[in-house]
Amino acid sequence: MTQIRKVVILGAGVAGAILARRLSALPGLDVTCLERVAPDDHSEAGTGLNVGPNAIKALHACDPALARDVIRQSLPWQRWRTSLADGTVLFDLPLDRVADNDGIRIRWSELYRILRSGAGPAIRYGCEVTRIGPDAADPHRTSVAWTERGQEHTIDGIDLLIGADGRYSATRASFSGQPEPRHIGVAILRVLVEDRSGGLVDDYEQWFNRHHRLLAFRVPPHHIYIAGTYPIAAGMAIPDEWKTPEGMRHAFLPDGREASPAVRWLVEAMCDQATDVHWARMQESEVRFAEPVRQVLYLGDSAHGMAPTLGQGATQAMEDASCVAMLIEAALREGQNDVREWLREIDAVRRERIQFAMELSIRATDTLLQGADPVAGARWKTEAPFIDDLSRLFRDVALGPVA
Ligand SMILES: Cc1cc2nc3c(=O)[nH]c(=O)nc-3n(C[C@H](O)[C@H](O)[C@H](O)COP(=O)(O)OP(=O)(O)OC[C@H]3O[C@@H](n4cnc5c(N)ncnc54)[C@H](O)[C@@H]3O)c2cc1C
Repeated sequence: MTQIRKVVILGAGVAGAILARRLSALPGLDVTCLERVAPDDHSEAGTGLNVGPNAIKALHACDPALARDVIRQSLPWQRWRTSLADGTVLFDLPLDRVADNDGIRIRWSELYRILRSGAGPAIRYGCEVTRIGPDAADPHRTSVAWTERGQEHTIDGIDLLIGADGRYSATRASFSGQPEPRHIGVAILRVLVEDRSGGLVDDYEQWFNRHHRLLAFRVPPHHIYIAGTYPIAAGMAIPDEWKTPEGMRHAFLPDGREASPAVRWLVEAMCDQATDVHWARMQESEVRFAEPVRQVLYLGDSAHGMAPTLGQGATQAMEDASCVAMLIEAALREGQNDVREWLREIDAVRRERIQFAMELSIRATDTLLQGADPVAGARWKTEAPFIDDLSRLFRDVALGPVA
């Protein structure tokens, strides 16, 4: 008789929801996915996402129906244009030069809605996890306790615990401590505004004013996502004056030159919503996919905090989940039931890929650092070594031997 494996997924964000849908459909697994928020609460996901072609390629290989749903409700990401704030174009790259398919542009809350509804009853919402720890009877297994609608629940003897609970993962903190963030020296503001630009902004574009980068793209139904960056010393608090309309105009409008119409519109739209802006500091953290003894797996942000420069956070979370779903499915099909072997294979397939994506994201951050020259920074990104790396990032998704 086949032994049923108990799998618990903590968090139904980007990675957790994809995985809950796929794994709960597999015979041989008893899957529980616990999500902290209510089903329609996407309040922590208030901005837009550009999701790389590599995520769509991976999701399509793992779950074509879900990939089609996501594509249907997003806009295609087909170009990457970089300009100066006065509108002088520095480079304009059609993504089909470096990718096999389009990426997407979507509201983050909408991506959550599609992925979570795709998983249906496999996700349990409104769960407050109260304990994550080792199983008392087994050195490899784990135990989770939570409260749901006032009732307390526990699962012991978990064969595979998956921490898909994001950047501040309680799962990772429980077994190996919260990873130290490495600050990259850049602060980033992000805001979603209504599209009243009259067609000035559409596909992914960046505009530089010295070392300040403004980035924007249109997302459905009728919004524009705007992100702006400021160099900042490690450990320094984000100054209050940057958060004012005057501070934003000073950073993103060129001195002594006319800003392009798109930049003028974006800066004023941002200033009008200055109090809604989300501020953060770019950071990354050490990669860890699995624990050495306990059968615990980390995916997405809990496995690897990533610099957002190339839009690879949610993108790699989708690649991770697609890869893991396919590897586990193949293992079960071949009668390979050793969870520690699954973890070794996942680490072998994903580690190098993630390190490459993180390293490339850091290299591409050069133009955002104090004193950077945007013209020189754009020039090397049009040359063969970077174009080849971008092509590797967008095309060579690491799904393992089953791909
Ligand atoms: C403002 C902003 C803009 C971004 N823009 C982009 C972009 O353009 N492109 C891109 O690729 N990436 C972008 N990212 C990064 C991207 O959003 C993340 O990398 C991605 O969401 C990570 O997916 P994940 O599945 O690891 O975690 P998340 O999507 O964060 O999901 C974690 C889930 O776990 C749940 N959870 C947390 N703790 C618990 C707990 N204790 N118990 C139960 N549930 C729990 C959370 O509620 C959440 O649903 C952006 C991030 C931010 C903040």
